[in-house]
Amino acid sequence: MSTEELTPTMVLVAGMVVLTIGERLMPAAAGRQWRSGWPGWPGWLGWLRIGWRNIGLGGVNALLLVVIGAPCMVLVSVWAEAHDLGLLRAVPLSEAMVAMVAVLMIDGLMYLWHRANHVICWLWHFHRLHHSDEEMDATTTIRFHPVEIAISILWRMAAMPLLGLTIGHYAIYEFCLFPVILLHHSNLRVPWVLERLGRRLIVTPGLHRVHHSRVRIESESNFASIFSFWDRLGGTLMLRERGWKISFGVEESEQPDWRVTSTRN
Ligand SMILES: [Zn+2]
Ligand SMILES: [Zn+2]
Repeated sequence: MSTEELTPTMVLVAGMVVLTIGERLMPAAAGRQWRSGWPGWPGWLGWLRIGWRNIGLGGVNALLLVVIGAPCMVLVSVWAEAHDLGLLRAVPLSEAMVAMVAVLMIDGLMYLWHRANHVICWLWHFHRLHHSDEEMDATTTIRFHPVEIAISILWRMAAMPLLGLTIGHYAIYEFCLFPVILLHHSNLRVPWVLERLGRRLIVTPGLHRVHHSRVRIESESNFASIFSFWDRLGGTLMLRERGWKISFGVEESEQPDWRVTSTRN
């Protein structure tokens, strides 16, 4: 594993450990993580009993990214650089500015990709696994179908020669992304004042929990990953006030006419 992949991965693992402890100390809701379901057995066994599915999926996806994704992305990155391809190579900006623009570009692409996953039927077929978690916590962050991850590797590779993105830009992006997505999936109780201030810039737990709602109109909102302004720009931002009860899952989204209605709108 190269340094570019290692640092964001370490952030992901360390963040998950810290947030899992935080969820235990300051839970937002009575989550699954510390109920064993067996009288006399410690609560962490309950966390492991259900959380292992998400952790297992995350392990498979990490393997996919490290063994296939990263080497392919490195090849495309080197090839695009050798041929001087991509928008960012054509503009006279400092390295730091290019990195900032690259992070914004990737986050914008992630927003479009996420919306596509909710509108295109066969993409939803894989993305629904992420939404099927009925109690969110930090492990929900890595609960993705490997096919969704494989397709996302392809579009990320395609964006490299078009936009001038490098493997280093994706590493910087992930370094910023992982703390935010870990936090907004976690069951950590965030003080309301921080939630209200934070959501002006980033995707907070309060915003992303609405996206995981069983209610269709709510799950069809708040698609952004790092920056909440993508939803403001795209007209998909939905705010919920303090104490709003959200039931997580995909129940209403599974109704037969849902995809058809969604693609018509
Ligand atoms: Zn989604
Ligand atoms: Zn999510």
